[in-house]
Amino acid sequence: MILDIKEKLDEVKKYIGDIEKLEKAIELLYWDMKTYMPKKALDSRTSVLEYLSDQQFKLTTSEKVAEFIDFFSDKMNNLDLIDRVMIDNLKRNYDETKKIPKDKYLEYVVIASKSEAAWEEAKEKSDFSIFKPHLEKVVEYQKEFINYWGYEGNKYNTLLDKYERGITVEKLDIIFGELRDGIVELLKKINNSNKKISKDIFTGNFPIKAQEEFSIEVLKKMGFNFDCGRLDVSVHPFTLDMGNSDVRLTTHYYENEISSALLSSIHEGGHGIYEQNIPDSLDGTGLGTGVSMGIHESQSRFYENIIGRSKEFWTYFLPVAKKYFKEFKDTTLDEFYEAINYVEPSLIRTEADELTYSLHIIIRYEIEKSLINGEIEVSDLPRVWNEKYKEYLGVEPSNDAEGVLQDTHWSDGSFGYFPSYALGNVYGAQMLNKLLQDKPNIFKEISQGNLNGVYEWLKENVHKHGSIYTPEELIKNITGEEINTKYFLEYLNKKYLSIYTN
Ligand code: ZN
Repeated sequence: MILDIKEKLDEVKKYIGDIEKLEKAIELLYWDMKTYMPKKALDSRTSVLEYLSDQQFKLTTSEKVAEFIDFFSDKMNNLDLIDRVMIDNLKRNYDETKKIPKDKYLEYVVIASKSEAAWEEAKEKSDFSIFKPHLEKVVEYQKEFINYWGYEGNKYNTLLDKYERGITVEKLDIIFGELRDGIVELLKKINNSNKKISKDIFTGNFPIKAQEEFSIEVLKKMGFNFDCGRLDVSVHPFTLDMGNSDVRLTTHYYENEISSALLSSIHEGGHGIYEQNIPDSLDGTGLGTGVSMGIHESQSRFYENIIGRSKEFWTYFLPVAKKYFKEFKDTTLDEFYEAINYVEPSLIRTEADELTYSLHIIIRYEIEKSLINGEIEVSDLPRVWNEKYKEYLGVEPSNDAEGVLQDTHWSDGSFGYFPSYALGNVYGAQMLNKLLQDKPNIFKEISQGNLNGVYEWLKENVHKHGSIYTPEELIKNITGEEINTKYFLEYLNKKYLSIYTN
């Protein structure tokens, strides 16, 4: 009996290992598509990706998987934690895909791909009406899928759960309500402050070669291992990995502005270090990757904001930056620190500062929730979008491109994804609180250019667990508490009031 289980587990791991190999091939092709692929290769590449994705789909929904699930159905209690979660995951993926009739799914793939193309055109022409009929179809299918998948409480819960297991509307209404109120109140205080801060120091002449070298120096200090990864350039920065030994970061340089590329490199470095630190022992289990989008964002934002926008970080790195860029010759630490924490309510999420960023997410969350529950229609989106921007941020888009059309997420039906970004902020501050208890001198170390303490702490508490624990379990294990906004709001208030009101 025990031998039976052992043999079957080996078989499952070999099977999952094969799926992982296929995934690595898909990731690498996709990375290449976004970085170095010649323009004319698009059609050929798309067809290769479609073929491999179809193979992947077949493997995850095969009879073989059904057989594995069936075999272990009465033996789960005999398994250790990792094996149990592995089988659980296999089953969840299998059930989720099997619940959607195959023809429905194939119809949707075509609809989503047309919708993505329509979104691109609509954004370029700043015309929502081009995108509207496609988005209506996408939403219709998403709603139908929810009915196939089933839901508890709120329909939107099913979509949220795909990106952040355990997160529900019931929880997010509280979390995001507190965040919204807390940030809006703090923003009012900042707006009323007489302190004038400028980020002009970041514009000027910043040679791209120097930016690249500086990014690499920062990433190396952070602990990103260039023997197991690379930094390249793409239109939108991202991180992809082919396992822990091959993690690809990208950034995007602007010769006349330095903060954008720099913060992107640090952000993606946070994602990359997470993946590099996943242990080899999780190969072939399906658990050898970051557990969720929210936890992933907690790592990238931890490095980008909590570390990369701290005074201690720049105590060490400003003198280094001065070696690369003559523009910083006369810049003082205070000037730099204030500039990199400059707050300004704006229209575009990806360019938002640390404080107002979460408001952009909360707006999207509220809209998605209403849309999925049929309280608003697709045709209402531009109006509702603009109203919420006015209300929460005090700014109003002058056209659809800088409003409702700015993000790609809805075009392929990624509803439920946006909240992860703001959850990352919340988790990150909870982790910071615990890190400071464990290592009270951590920011002193950072000011000396020593980031090992941060790296080791995150590795030990977050990275090495891969996807063994759910986000809920992980944050509880690390901090002893459930997700809550207390620490993030405290962090924001302390930091931004001291910058803006002293
Ligand atoms: Zn990210």
